[in-house]
Amino acid sequence: MLAQGIQLLYSFIDFLFPPRCILCGAGIASSRLEALCSHCAGYFTGPVSPMCPRCGMTFPSREGADHVCSRCLQQDVFFDAARALARYEGAVRMMIHRLKYRGQTILAKPLGTVMADHGRYLLPADGYKCIVPVPLHSTRLRERGYNQSVLLARCIGRRWKVPVEYRGLRKIRSTVPQAMLPVKDRVKNVRGVFCWTGASLQGAHVLLVDDVMTSGSTVDECARVLKRSGALRVDVLTLARTP
Ligand SMILES: [Zn+2]
Ligand SMILES: [Zn+2]
Repeated sequence: MLAQGIQLLYSFIDFLFPPRCILCGAGIASSRLEALCSHCAGYFTGPVSPMCPRCGMTFPSREGADHVCSRCLQQDVFFDAARALARYEGAVRMMIHRLKYRGQTILAKPLGTVMADHGRYLLPADGYKCIVPVPLHSTRLRERGYNQSVLLARCIGRRWKVPVEYRGLRKIRSTVPQAMLPVKDRVKNVRGVFCWTGASLQGAHVLLVDDVMTSGSTVDECARVLKRSGALRVDVLTLARTP
C-alpha cells in the first residue's frame, strides 16, 4: 500500500517535472536513478579490445589480440590494471568540466552510477578491501570546496558495498596541474607528493578512483604509495582518459 503510494507520488512528480537527461536535456523514461539518456550513457562503455591489459589504452588497429603497450613495457608501472569508461573529448570532456570546475556536483551521482555499473565488467579483479579516491591538496580542496573523485568513489562504494577510504591517501604537496606539463616531466612532478595515513593495507586489493587519467603518472604514483603501504593489488578506474 505504502509502496503504491510512493510510486503514485513519483509519477505525479514526473508529470509535473518530466525527467530529462542531465547532460543533453533529452526526455528520459521515468526513473529515480536514470539521469543520463541512453545516448549519453553510451559514451561510457569502456575500451574495446585490442587494448593494453595493463593501462587499458586501445590501439589504432582494431585487429589482433590484447598486448602490453610500449609505454607499459618500457617503464615500471605500479598499478595492476587501469580502465577508463570514455575518451576525454567532446561531450564527456564538457561534462567533467561541469562537475570539476563549475560546481555542478549534481553530476556526480549519474556519472558515479555509470562508473559503478560499467566499471565492474571492465576490471579483471574484484574483492576490493576499499576504494581510494585520488586526493586533492588541501589548498585546492579549500578553493573548490569538494573533491570530485571522492564524490564518484562514494557512489561506486555504495553500489558495490565497498568502504571508501577518503582520508587515508593524502596529497602533502601542491603541484603544477599535470596537463600543463610535457609528458616527460609528469612523473617527476608527482613523485613523493602522496602519503598513506590510513589503516594497514597488508595483502589488500585496492581500487583507486579518479575523474580523468592523462599520462597515468598521478594514479601510478598513488599506486606506488599504496603498494609500499602493503596493498597487494591496485586497480584504477577513471571516468575518462585522454585519447
Ligand atoms: Zn543525454
Ligand atoms: Zn599500457
